[in-house]
Amino acid sequence: MLGSAAVVVGGTAAGAVGYRLWRDREPAGPPDTDGAGHLVWRNWSGIQSSYPVSRAAPANEDELASLLKTAPGPIRPVGAGHSFQPLVPTNGTLLTLDRMSGVLAHDPAALTAQVRAGTRLGDLGPALAALGQEMPNLPDINKQSLGGALGTGTHGTGQGLKAIHGEVLSFRLATIGGDILDCSADHHPEIFNAARVNLGAFGVVTEVTLKNQPLSTIYKRVELRDWNETCDDWEHLKRSHRNVEFYVIPFTGKAAVITADPTSRALKPRGPDTDTQTVMQLKTLRDLFGPLPGARRWVAEKLLSGLPPEEMVDQGWKLLSNERPVRFNEMEFHLPVEAQIPALKEVVATIEAKRNDVFFPIEVRTIAADDAWLSPFYQRESGSVAVHAYYKDDYQFLFELIEPIFRRHGGRPHWGKLNSLKAADFRALYPRWKDAMEVRAALDPGGSFLNPYLRSALIDV
Ligand SMILES: Cc1cc2nc3c(=O)[nH]c(=O)nc-3n(C[C@H](O)[C@H](O)[C@H](O)COP(=O)(O)OP(=O)(O)OC[C@H]3O[C@@H](n4cnc5c(N)ncnc54)[C@H](O)[C@@H]3O)c2cc1C
Repeated sequence: MLGSAAVVVGGTAAGAVGYRLWRDREPAGPPDTDGAGHLVWRNWSGIQSSYPVSRAAPANEDELASLLKTAPGPIRPVGAGHSFQPLVPTNGTLLTLDRMSGVLAHDPAALTAQVRAGTRLGDLGPALAALGQEMPNLPDINKQSLGGALGTGTHGTGQGLKAIHGEVLSFRLATIGGDILDCSADHHPEIFNAARVNLGAFGVVTEVTLKNQPLSTIYKRVELRDWNETCDDWEHLKRSHRNVEFYVIPFTGKAAVITADPTSRALKPRGPDTDTQTVMQLKTLRDLFGPLPGARRWVAEKLLSGLPPEEMVDQGWKLLSNERPVRFNEMEFHLPVEAQIPALKEVVATIEAKRNDVFFPIEVRTIAADDAWLSPFYQRESGSVAVHAYYKDDYQFLFELIEPIFRRHGGRPHWGKLNSLKAADFRALYPRWKDAMEVRAALDPGGSFLNPYLRSALIDV
């Protein structure tokens, strides 16, 4: 995220940092059962949890189809559990496709691949590379399952580059009645349009055909710049690079600008992860200077100026996604492009005026329009802004201070990230909402896939 900034900050406050890294070391993954032996599920950040009565892991479509007919509801598909919204919690059946993963077939001429929906993106990268293919874009991490990524409209960044569901040519959907439907622009086109982004509320996606591109080598660069200048340059940056994003580092006046472009340069693999150390060092600055934002900015500006850019060259799947072991909670909204920078400036001003405790960088990305009815990018090229809160810190300010800014600027929330919107709000934001909900109700008339959150988000009360 911030590259070599880590080294300099680390040299300055080494003792304090070492102590805090020890004190704040990340917890091991959550247990599958609690002390009393009950199944327990928690999301990645730890704010969502539930006690399912059963956990099902079918090995193929036949097993899945028969269990859907009898499993106690709500039946909630789960991928890697990396969503922040309560999409997955259930006291009924937790359904994982972990045993339904891998590439089934590929077409070298058409550059397509048929992939099981339980496949993790981190496994898909090397599998596609072995076939000479790559996904046109990737999110910031690659821990997600393909089914989970499609469930929430997961995206990367780059002008003209669509979110993952924008490159889906077809998928297979297991319905509550035990049917397996082939859905594409030609077969069940209404389901294809309504359920490419689906929240796990239409059925269970078992297989996906992806349109890929030839495997490529990219040159990735991370550079620290003045954040206001970066905002002024954003339109130019978007036009000039295949992938581009920036992270505003609050209370420092700086942004980390990250670009990635196809290249014929010699390979220069990514070095050891310095982002994690940098984030914890920003936390140390917050802990030391939080109540003194002027001093915090002064120290940060001294430490961060004059750092050389970080550069790497490798296959895209190795560089576009990152390791993010420091846990956080997150809100991200997708804004009309012209509203992105004004909304960002309000967000940064609000945080710097009212929330000295925030230290996570604020992420700014660009995503192309698509035509999936529940896509946050439906018929709208979008600029996203994401605000994070360390997992041990308060995150209510996201709802109280940040969400109103995003909403005033016409933002649509990321389906997997924190937001307080209900069905009536979504109906006003999505032109094909009613059509999508009719498709959903026809596929799952009894609401077997709906937990309480999904009822409030999808059904008007
Ligand atoms: C550290 C971190 C970084 C992130 N970076 C990005 C980013 O760069 N870009 C971005 O857009 N998002 C990002 N996210 C959000 C994340 O991509 C989404 O929340 C994604 O949905 C998580 O995938 P998952 O496999 O964990 O799905 P889960 O969270 O387990 O499930 C998500 C939804 O998909 C449904 N689902 C899962 N599998 C299926 C299936 N087979 N059939 C039907 N429904 C299914 C679930 O029911 C649920 O509704 C990030 C999250 C974290 C924690």
